[in-house]
Amino acid sequence: MTSDQSAKLDARLRRRHLEELSDRSDVDVLVVGGGVTGVGIALDAATRGLRTVLVDAHDLAFGTSRWSSKLVHGGLRYLASGRLGVAHESAVERGILMTRTAPHLIHAMTQVVPLMPSITLSHRLLVRTGFIAGDTLRAVARTPGSVLPRSRKVNAARTIELVPGVRTDGLKGGLLAFDGQLVDDARLVVTIARTAAEHGASILNHVRADEVTGSSARLTDTTTGETFTLAAKAVINATGVWAAEVDSSIKLRPSRGTHLVFDAELFGNPTGALTVPVPGSISRFIFALPQQQGRIYLGLTDEDAPGPIPDEPQAADSEIDFLLDTVNTALQVPVTRNDIRGTYSGLRPLLDSGGGETSDVSRKHAVLESPNGLITIVGGKLTTYRRMAQDAVDKAVEVRGLQASECKTHNLPLIGAPAHAASTATDGLPDSLVARYGGAARTVLDAATVAMPLEPIADGVDVTRAEIEFAITNEGAVDASDVLDRRTRIGLVAGDADRARPAVQEILDAVST
Ligand SMILES: Cc1cc2nc3c(=O)[nH]c(=O)nc-3n(C[C@H](O)[C@H](O)[C@H](O)COP(=O)(O)OP(=O)(O)OC[C@H]3O[C@@H](n4cnc5c(N)ncnc54)[C@H](O)[C@@H]3O)c2cc1C
Repeated sequence: MTSDQSAKLDARLRRRHLEELSDRSDVDVLVVGGGVTGVGIALDAATRGLRTVLVDAHDLAFGTSRWSSKLVHGGLRYLASGRLGVAHESAVERGILMTRTAPHLIHAMTQVVPLMPSITLSHRLLVRTGFIAGDTLRAVARTPGSVLPRSRKVNAARTIELVPGVRTDGLKGGLLAFDGQLVDDARLVVTIARTAAEHGASILNHVRADEVTGSSARLTDTTTGETFTLAAKAVINATGVWAAEVDSSIKLRPSRGTHLVFDAELFGNPTGALTVPVPGSISRFIFALPQQQGRIYLGLTDEDAPGPIPDEPQAADSEIDFLLDTVNTALQVPVTRNDIRGTYSGLRPLLDSGGGETSDVSRKHAVLESPNGLITIVGGKLTTYRRMAQDAVDKAVEVRGLQASECKTHNLPLIGAPAHAASTATDGLPDSLVARYGGAARTVLDAATVAMPLEPIADGVDVTRAEIEFAITNEGAVDASDVLDRRTRIGLVAGDADRARPAVQEILDAVST
């Protein structure tokens, strides 16, 4: 779709693509929404040879995709509730991501269920059986044990080594299982978007779509107010929890999930994810997930969230209490509200299937066609974005009679993956940079023009000045919020964002085109 196919996303190219688009009539697929689902669709469509445009009203990963638990999971929970198809699909997609398309952004995470006196023998057996079923699921999905080891039981000493903050009185050891953990969800979204651009898709953030039909949409550049109508052979609504605002024939039942952010020191700088059963449930757990920048993200709740969709959902007091009370059953020194460094909440875009708990509503995705021909995709999860994209593009090809090749994304390395043609060696580069960019880490440094590129952007923040520049010059960040809240996750802790903002603004002013 772009005249110069490159992974570069910047303000100048964005303006140029918008100008070119206003008089183009050869677009095959217009994707509305730049979360993981939308960028996955743009990548799928572009690599099948379709002329593809993606717009997001705010920014890439503005919605639910940045508020996840950042897990690439095998669907164990779905197995527990008998949803074998969803569990199998998750396990297969996890394997594809961890072995081929994005191994540089995902590592094996050790989940640790401490065997405290409060866990009954039957509960313990149930957890162990679930973990063994997870091993079987991994084997069926053909994900090697070298990528995700088998579950096992360990003694108390090893449990404490993995999670030093765990409650030790009466501790009988721990049950371990392994799943995939992303360095960051928004980083996955941006990486997929840049890979789509590399294959010719036009990726346009800060462009809102209104009056969306099966063959056109009214687009507004929210940075200038300029507006025009774009025609496309197929239009796909990938706006997640906003899908019903774009297509009124859709009915959603959003469910809110909340995480709390802590300093990892409070949990003894664990290397494993403390996994605590929710009292009264046999299949729900909360997780204290070790994350980048020395933080723990503690989640997760599942609450009905009716009413208007906020830009940034907020945690309810009851969710905070629930998470603190549950994790404190397993900690030697309890954490309190005063220890919380930040909170974040997201809304799951679940299809309304009537009554029951939101935790029981199916996570299976659905591709729907509205009476005006608009194709909408909802549900699903981050882990299965690739399969969701394939199904959505298959549907567009079928109902619009588009000329397209077969889906290729199951074997298509994202930018920075070891098998990506432009990836290079990372010897001598900071671990945090390599964790976020993989084989593209050197490109970030080579592109830097700022002074002291390897210096952190602020004291106590492990994001380098080079990464900030790259976010603006190559990842489409338009303003300080794009940089702080999505290209990096500095914004998850307000104090960090306040300290970094002046330097970020300075780099924005210096390098914006
Ligand atoms: C708390 C929580 C934790 C989760 N944890 C996990 C996990 O660990 N692993 C996992 O696999 N899944 C997880 N999920 C599920 C997963 O995060 C979501 O299913 C997924 O991110 C949804 O992505 P999406 O692209 O469909 O929607 P979104 O990310 O919400 O993207 C929709 C986009 O559409 C844009 N938009 C809206 N209206 C318009 C318009 N009119 N014009 C243009 N653009 C528009 C928005 O700006 C937004 O960027 C979690 C979900 C939640 C809520």
